Amino acid sequence: MGEAEEQVDVAANLAEVRRRIGAAAGVAGRAAEDVVLVAVAKGQPSERLEAALAAGQRAFGENYVQEAAARWPGLRARWPDVVLHLVGALQSNKAREAVALFDVIESVDRPRLAEALAREAARAGRCPRLLLQVNTGREPQKAGVAPEGVAELLALCRDRLRLPVMGLMAIPPEDQDVGPHTRLLAELAERHGLAVVSCGMSADFEQAIRHGATEVRVGSAIFGARRPRVT
Ligand SMILES: *Cc1c(COP(=O)(O)O)cnc(C)c1O
Repeated sequence: MGEAEEQVDVAANLAEVRRRIGAAAGVAGRAAEDVVLVAVAKGQPSERLEAALAAGQRAFGENYVQEAAARWPGLRARWPDVVLHLVGALQSNKAREAVALFDVIESVDRPRLAEALAREAARAGRCPRLLLQVNTGREPQKAGVAPEGVAELLALCRDRLRLPVMGLMAIPPEDQDVGPHTRLLAELAERHGLAVVSCGMSADFEQAIRHGATEVRVGSAIFGARRPRVT
């Protein structure tokens, strides 16, 4: 591979992903507008994000606070109605930056982080909407609260800390059918009166929608291959 970034027709990819979301929503008896498409931008050059913005996309997902902080303030000056989601793991010591930058934080999975977010939100006088990340596959190396821990974490976040928890998010095991994981997530959300079910990525978003996802997080199907992360 050379230095030059591969050409990707982001607008065409976006239109195709939107068409597929609409079709899957139709199969599930739902309106296309009831499914939120979050365009996951990690590892993508800013030109591709600008192409998506120019094509009308407004909800974006980032995995790393640093990468998001480097480019979204500039992009937001031009597209103020962007809705920025943090979909990657968040360390408690980055809570202040995350509260300042993001509109939605999808990776709340432990009391210490919830408490840090509550503290920073009170300090900032604003709080992003939150999702609790659930480890539906019970993978030991993966972030997320276990399904049976949702009630307790939700009680802390919603009832004690008064945080705006809107729903649940999962990243199912790569080698498994997304369907049962989405259904479990949707059942937990319904049991607790939460509206948002965030599940499904490029490889399986239609399947996730058919099983109850209200939000899908799609990166490479829109933006093409990512740059490998350099740490
Ligand atoms: C990278 C990522 C996505 C998007 O993955 P694609 O396979 O490129 O669609 C979605 N959700 C999370 C949490 C991610 O880290």
